[in-house]
Amino acid sequence: MSHVVTLIPGDGTGPEITEATCRVLDATGVQFDWQVCHAGVETLGKFGTVLPDEVIESIKRTKVALKGPITTPVGKGFRSANVTLRKKLDLYANLRPAKTYQGLRSRYEHIDLIIVRENTEDLYVGVEFQRGTPELEEMVETIARTTGTRLSTDAAISIKFISVMASRRIVKFAFDYARARGRRKVTAIHKSNIMKCSDGLFLATAQEVAKEYPDIQFEDRIVDNMCMQLVQRPELYDVLVLPNLYGDIISDLSAGLIGGLGVAPGANIGSQYAVFEPVHGSAPKYAGQNKVNPMAMMFSGVLMLRYLGEKDAANRLEKAIAQVIAEGKCVTYDLKPRPDDPTAVKTSQVADAVIEKLHKA
Ligand code: NAD
Repeated sequence: MSHVVTLIPGDGTGPEITEATCRVLDATGVQFDWQVCHAGVETLGKFGTVLPDEVIESIKRTKVALKGPITTPVGKGFRSANVTLRKKLDLYANLRPAKTYQGLRSRYEHIDLIIVRENTEDLYVGVEFQRGTPELEEMVETIARTTGTRLSTDAAISIKFISVMASRRIVKFAFDYARARGRRKVTAIHKSNIMKCSDGLFLATAQEVAKEYPDIQFEDRIVDNMCMQLVQRPELYDVLVLPNLYGDIISDLSAGLIGGLGVAPGANIGSQYAVFEPVHGSAPKYAGQNKVNPMAMMFSGVLMLRYLGEKDAANRLEKAIAQVIAEGKCVTYDLKPRPDDPTAVKTSQVADAVIEKLHKA
């Protein structure tokens, strides 16, 4: 059976890493029917949008997408295509595994963390009040009337919005993931000692949900303490579940623990659709140079294979990439001891090396 998958090469270095990733996915022997859809700076020039409607329509048909990074043009009026995609398809869970592989240049060994980040609310709902506007003044008046605290109007306000519904479904997602993968513990991250209402609600909801999963340990940590703990003793943690902003920050911290953005995969998952993509952006300064590391996208492909039920192919591909990393020969500049190492190979040569390992297995 062939899997019909929407393929979004994206822009910048996206098309190069997408080509390398499709080659290794096809080499697993799993049949794919790639439905290619363009999004990014190229479609902005042609159609006036970085995210044409046909991309959303295609994912609604296929249910699954593999996506390269998309540049967010700097300037007013541009909403990130990535944020829009997550919103339109209600991809509420951002899953970011952080795992060390032998041969990666990291200060740590044996890290195997799963970051589950809420993807739809928190400070990212985009409700903001700009300094000097009547709306800001009205907001300041409302706050003074309802809370007794008068804020200065020489300010801007961003709303932090956390609901029971979204907290509940993301914590359930984390526990279901933990149970399905034989994980031992879920840690909820918050700052409810200060934000008693919003983060307090997230924590209380997490504690409620945890009671439904007596087979999995549950604990919570305050976010600042969690940052220190992750740097000192990351091996103590397993599955982390976080509201949107803390999730964004901690997942990049975790990418740093395992050797950088070149190997950090991600998935955006909702109840109906899933989009798999590397954590990193379009790295436009390297576009067209066949230079950047395709492994973050390849590992995203591994997550996609698991999601599609292709467990054996996922394990084989993960192992093949891990072997290439461990040998340290056919890897891009970012995995070499120095970025100007003359033995660094090209993006496409990484795919050749992974395919060779797959064929030998
Ligand atoms: P970036 O991740 O594109 O690049 C930052 C630096 O990280 C690069 O200059 C490079 O040194 C390194 N890097 C990134 N990917 C790499 C790889 N695969 N191999 C080796 N090194 C790699 O971050 P940025 O420069 O902040 O963002 C560039 C654009 O990408 C922006 O427009 C941003 O909005 C967008 N972006 C898109 C996504 C997405 O599509 N999901 C995610 C993040 C950023």
